[in-house]
Amino acid sequence: MKIICIGRNYAKHAKEMKADLPAEPVFFMKPDTALLKEGDFYLPDFSSDIHHEIELVLKISKAGKHIEEQFANRYYDEIGLGIDFTARDLQAVCKEKGLPWEKAKAFDNSAPLGGFVKKETLALNNIGFELQINGQMRQQGNSADLIFSFDKVISYVSRFVSLKVGDLIYTGTPEGVGAVKIGDKLEGFLNGQSLLKLNVK
Ligand code: MG
Repeated sequence: MKIICIGRNYAKHAKEMKADLPAEPVFFMKPDTALLKEGDFYLPDFSSDIHHEIELVLKISKAGKHIEEQFANRYYDEIGLGIDFTARDLQAVCKEKGLPWEKAKAFDNSAPLGGFVKKETLALNNIGFELQINGQMRQQGNSADLIFSFDKVISYVSRFVSLKVGDLIYTGTPEGVGAVKIGDKLEGFLNGQSLLKLNVK
């Protein structure tokens, strides 16, 4: 199982990161040890600036490579919510030096994963989602604002990396990223339904 993450897939988030809009999808990977399905998230000791990035997550239901965009919707059947935790301080150093991002993105438990809903129950180009921290709205997004659609992302990534059943694609975060701190209670909503709960310790 692998976790594929799309970067800069919402224009306002790219802007808050002072990054250019990508001409094609930007992706990176997290190992399976990044997955956190239940339990608490413990702030790691190597960073003092762990940021939340709430994201819609596609669950791959069929193996494939070189998937054409027009057929890409056959390759996932559920959409859920996850968090792409990012050590922003380490990432800034990696970016500055032109180094890979893994230290900042792929660390243990950096990919909390909540529940899923069946794709058929959703209007794919109008999925609203939100992250609340301690009951306050911190990030709000809608799949309508994706720079690269789910189908485009699957098609693009599968040119380089074969997809397998159970792989996860974190599709990018909207604006409003920020640091979490000990004691924070995170809750993610998809179309108003609570799908993810996490305590920061
Ligand atoms: Mg992200």
